[in-house]
Amino acid sequence: MNILVVGSVAYDSVQTPEGSNRHQLGGSATYFSISASYFTPVGLVAVVGKDFARQDFHLLEEHGVDTTGLETNAGETFRWKGQYTEDMNAAITIETRLNVFEKFKPALPESHRRAPYLFLANISPDLQHAVLDQMSSRPKLVACDSMNLWIEIARPRLLELIEKVDVLMINEAEARQLTGMRSLVGAAGALLKRGLKALVVKRGEYGAVVFHKDFTFAAPAYPLARVVDPTGAGDSFAGGFMGYLAAVDDTGAEAMRRAAVAGSVMASFTVEDFGVGRLNSLKTTEINARFNAFVELTRFHPLGGGQGLPLTARTA
Ligand code: AMP
Repeated sequence: MNILVVGSVAYDSVQTPEGSNRHQLGGSATYFSISASYFTPVGLVAVVGKDFARQDFHLLEEHGVDTTGLETNAGETFRWKGQYTEDMNAAITIETRLNVFEKFKPALPESHRRAPYLFLANISPDLQHAVLDQMSSRPKLVACDSMNLWIEIARPRLLELIEKVDVLMINEAEARQLTGMRSLVGAAGALLKRGLKALVVKRGEYGAVVFHKDFTFAAPAYPLARVVDPTGAGDSFAGGFMGYLAAVDDTGAEAMRRAAVAGSVMASFTVEDFGVGRLNSLKTTEINARFNAFVELTRFHPLGGGQGLPLTARTA
């Protein structure tokens, strides 16, 4: 296993301007692991309840996801109910029921403790800490995600976690909420000062920006005519991002830029259908075709030989 992820495995009920769907397989770790599994083997640490369907275990296993760390405990699987209005970039949480996550104490199987890449997907910061603390050797790269709920109710624990990870991946509103800064560049500066190598800000239909300590890189989102369900876009982005880095085993600047595009590619598929409907059944040819479409989308020729832009003459 090349990437270990801890996060939620859930049943979601969502309503979007394109329709609604109840009880769909979701959760941060689910989207992440399916997305990353197209690049490299993934192991998952989470908990589900006795109601978790056999076919959903199979779905994960069909992607080669190692479910040894997916516990089944008495009680119900985590439930999230959300809604999107015309602004498909921001989910409105209607209801969160932690259920089996309330008492969950992750115990990493021995085989998981040396994973070279670790993703602490959105779940309580206490659980994120508990997983990080059990790693027997420091992974080459640790990234984490979070959300408004944890920024509100577990801010000190989240800030403590940020000091221990390399990459923080959050959305624009969360970056502002966490730092109290309106400017994203200002927010990035404040978070990088806490020791991060990079802050990745997910901006929904506007793409994602990597604020690295050595560079800034912006990846667009793929222009889609129809977004059906944005749920899981952020986690699928993270899966493509980490999946690519782990597959090439490179965390340098060029790799991170390409990883941001790989993340955008995977997120663009997720939003085309409810839940994991589209993400679940991708062909490698489709993924590569979309990656190439991103190359074309962002291609332009730099000005040659010290030439400037054709500006009108000014005195100064
Ligand atoms: P995103 O990629 O940000 O759209 O994440 C969507 C997923 O986050 C959904 O499938 C939810 O099940 C999951 N989720 C929502 N709230 C929470 C929470 N408080 N803790 C963990 N996961 C959550």
